[in-house]
Amino acid sequence: MKKKIYETIIIGCGISGLGCAHTLKDNNKDFLVITEDIGGRICTSSDGKVNYGAYFVTYDYKHMKKLVTKGRKIRFKDITFHNGRKRYRFFNRQIIKYIPQLIKLTFHLLKFRRAYGIFKKNCEHMSQKEALEQDPYLKSLYKKKTIDFLKEQHIEGVVNKYIHEVLYAMSFVSDQKPSAFSFLQWTYQLFLLPVNEFSLDKNMTILPFRKNIIRDTVLKIGKKGDNYLIKTRNKKFIARNIVVATPPWISKNLLHLEKIDKTINAYMFHVKGSIREGWDETDDQFFDPHSRTCVISHQTDGSYLVYTKNKNVDLNNYFSSFDIISQKHWKPAFTYPEDLMLDCIQGKNLYLIGDHNIGGMEDSYITGIYAANQIIKNNLSQE
Ligand SMILES: Cc1cc2nc3c(=O)[nH]c(=O)nc-3n(C[C@H](O)[C@H](O)[C@H](O)COP(=O)(O)OP(=O)(O)OC[C@H]3O[C@@H](n4cnc5c(N)ncnc54)[C@H](O)[C@@H]3O)c2cc1C
Repeated sequence: MKKKIYETIIIGCGISGLGCAHTLKDNNKDFLVITEDIGGRICTSSDGKVNYGAYFVTYDYKHMKKLVTKGRKIRFKDITFHNGRKRYRFFNRQIIKYIPQLIKLTFHLLKFRRAYGIFKKNCEHMSQKEALEQDPYLKSLYKKKTIDFLKEQHIEGVVNKYIHEVLYAMSFVSDQKPSAFSFLQWTYQLFLLPVNEFSLDKNMTILPFRKNIIRDTVLKIGKKGDNYLIKTRNKKFIARNIVVATPPWISKNLLHLEKIDKTINAYMFHVKGSIREGWDETDDQFFDPHSRTCVISHQTDGSYLVYTKNKNVDLNNYFSSFDIISQKHWKPAFTYPEDLMLDCIQGKNLYLIGDHNIGGMEDSYITGIYAANQIIKNNLSQE
């Protein structure tokens, strides 16, 4: 019997694969998803109430917002910062001395937001690489290290005092090597916009294409004439278009990519217990980058999430008594891109999507929209 040739196979069903699948479905295109799980790095406790991976959405998550239900608001003013033995909030008397820097920083954040909004819109119909080429301002930020940007703009003071901890909590990186692009990308969203915890109903999300999903692991992608041959643990598949929506370190192997950026690890402990005095002032405790602990976050069900850079952090420092409900070793959690972007088009009808260039769910989702739009456009031109 002749083997079925799929129009498109999407490998991976995290948020980027979902972006691609939803766009193809909305345009009545045929596709198959081969994936190990649904949601990828959007993963939760067994009762679905606590996010163990991706944690928040912001006001500017235009595409993502349609798929999720918003939860507790995370307010900048309610974060307690811990720097060595010092403990403080953002709005305190010391902030007065940083007001000129704060104004300057806010100007940069607003400027970035405007350019980034246009960039994301462009990315629906252009690869991230092409869209970046069109904007010299964003391109220079992508190539610049945060540390150099802050020095140039004379805003290290306010960043080291307050925002440093926020970025450490978000990125698990203890230095300022990530690009000025990613610094501004996260800082403007956390600093200027409403930020919420969220939940993703995975069954509802895949309902429109539930029957197009196969749970399996892809081991190899090869060519078969003009088409692609996919070898999984259990079977072989043939497709005209392939969309690789796996995490960067898996895509690297599947596509034999030479370059892959630095990977970042993190540990997560989901804890039930009595928190010690000093760690209970507000729901979110953010730590300075010299600490091995990045965040402690009080959950609406009374439990706590503790993110650390080190497996051997002593939780007795924070809890007088506790049980670990679950723990997860994010090895890696994500990459941080250091200079040049990878192209989405990796060959004829072969697409790479996800967060290999730009971190976060919204941008990942948009890479999925772009790959789907390319497939739809190519189909139209062949008809
Ligand atoms: C701890 C943590 C906290 C984060 N917090 C936030 C946050 O608050 N906000 C935010 O916007 N982003 C956050 N992120 C980043 C965000 O989760 C990612 O940028 C985004 O989810 C990437 O989506 P993706 O679809 O590209 O990859 P993934 O979510 O990794 O999905 C990859 C998919 O590929 C599948 N797969 C892997 N290998 C194979 C294979 N060989 N064969 C078949 N299928 C395969 C997996 O099963 C999965 O379905 C966080 C990430 C982590 C780890």
